[in-house]
Amino acid sequence: MDLLDTLTAKGLRGEVPTREEALAVLATTDDELLDVVAAAGKVRRRWFGRRVKLNYLVNLKSGLCPEDCNYCSQRLGSKAEILKYTWLKPDQAADAARAGVAGGAKRVCLVASGRGPTDRDIDRVTDTMAAIKDADPEVEICVCLGLLSDNQAERLKAAGADAYNHNLNTSEKTYGDITTTHTYADRVDTVQKAHGAGLSACSGLIAGMGESDEDLVDVVFALRELGSDSVPVNFLIPFEGTPLAKEWNLSPQRCLRILAMVRFVNPDTEVRIAGGREVHLRSMQPLGLHVANSIFLGDYLTSEGQAGQTDLDMIKDAGFEVEGAGEATLPRHRADIAAASSCGTAASACGSGGGCGPCGGHAHAPADAPVAVDADAAASDASDGELRSDLVKVRLRGAGTELAPNA
Ligand code: SF4
Repeated sequence: MDLLDTLTAKGLRGEVPTREEALAVLATTDDELLDVVAAAGKVRRRWFGRRVKLNYLVNLKSGLCPEDCNYCSQRLGSKAEILKYTWLKPDQAADAARAGVAGGAKRVCLVASGRGPTDRDIDRVTDTMAAIKDADPEVEICVCLGLLSDNQAERLKAAGADAYNHNLNTSEKTYGDITTTHTYADRVDTVQKAHGAGLSACSGLIAGMGESDEDLVDVVFALRELGSDSVPVNFLIPFEGTPLAKEWNLSPQRCLRILAMVRFVNPDTEVRIAGGREVHLRSMQPLGLHVANSIFLGDYLTSEGQAGQTDLDMIKDAGFEVEGAGEATLPRHRADIAAASSCGTAASACGSGGGCGPCGGHAHAPADAPVAVDADAAASDASDGELRSDLVKVRLRGAGTELAPNA
């Protein structure tokens, strides 16, 4: 298939496909799916070998959010029966983090609901990071606290944070359909603030909210241009009690096509299968490892994942290995870009496709001839519409409870 040969060749060179090629990946048929996964797998192995990076979520503050993100169980007015609690104490968060690290995670993701942190919240997270790094100085810490104000990213960096997560979630064009209390531009601004402070930028998307293929391609190209070092690909978990509870739009095959498209557009970037892995990929999860090089271990913020040991068994059975604490995740040339990202207005330079090292160099690959797609061939793009709320299990253990975390 010419498309896959082209995408593989570009990916092996670290080049980004054209927008038409990315759209064509999403339009491939079920008969072509294993070839798509194999092609994306070659690109994945070129840059990341057979390593799987494990990340561990600690929800520092759950629910009670004043924002209205339609996809979120913690949103204003959510009727989802999730855990609701305010800030964990540093030792409580450190206990949860320790369980994840003991389970094999090299990165701990400290997340708090809310529009954005106050300066007092930055103090709390500073204390929490100190407690975690006291126990394990090598652990990577990614912080996710919402929209950042001036100097907050610099304070987090100085306190020992390695990365900041803030997802773009969907295309600029449709952003207003999923949230009204902040804008796409607000989100871009925070990713740029984090990157500009020298934090590794983690920013991704949510698929399955009713978006078009064009929306998915738009957000994935935007993430590439923003210079995100890690791209979490979430598959919507349609929580009962949220506005998107009936949006069961994803099949395992569709999820694999989306992951492959993200990989081709981000050949040398960490691609993480994030929330919704178990709910939507289901028994096809191991195929996802051939495309993505990173997953969350154990539970998510407000929902339960499969048992941590099952994650580890899956990785081993599929012929992959857990990435060790001493191993670099990104290929050397990408790590160099990340290290150089604090050169003045680095993030905005990356966003404009030039001016800050080699970032712009492969962000805009030359366009090839359009790719022919068999539009009549069947593809199981959507689920059969069945509401599978039985697959969504609210998290009732770990952080914020007396029960042991899943790791
Ligand atoms: S995604 Fe974040 S900002 Fe939006 S409702 Fe959920 S917790 Fe609040």
